[in-house]
Amino acid sequence: MNRPTLPMTREEFWRQYWDRIEVPELGYTMDLPVPGDRCWHWTGSKSGDRGYGVVTIQGERWLVHRLVHHVFNEEREPELLVLHSCNTTSCINPNHLRHGTERENWDDVIEDYDVARPVTDYGAGRLMRAVKRSAR
Ligand SMILES: [Zn+2]
Repeated sequence: MNRPTLPMTREEFWRQYWDRIEVPELGYTMDLPVPGDRCWHWTGSKSGDRGYGVVTIQGERWLVHRLVHHVFNEEREPELLVLHSCNTTSCINPNHLRHGTERENWDDVIEDYDVARPVTDYGAGRLMRAVKRSAR
């Protein structure tokens, strides 16, 4: 298990970004909520092409869902994707995030959209993202 040094604690993360995270039923709250089943929506800056939240920490640009997976779930594998089990790109609920490969990402898409066809070209990430984006 990869346990790198965390850039911040969960509490520090929340103190810094709570006003950019909308939690179902609570709205925006300064107190760190317990992650439940529903999506936490990032309403701050997003990357232009894919709609993932982005922040800069000490000059390093982070995708917010990767940062959350790192800080809350204490996992960081730079070579792996961080996948959304809910397929919502703006979601940063730690319970909805897990490490995976491009292949697994495709499998999710196929499961979600019931597209019965073999996946042989993992380089087709752009199409996959287009499919995901259209599902929002
Ligand atoms: Zn979610």
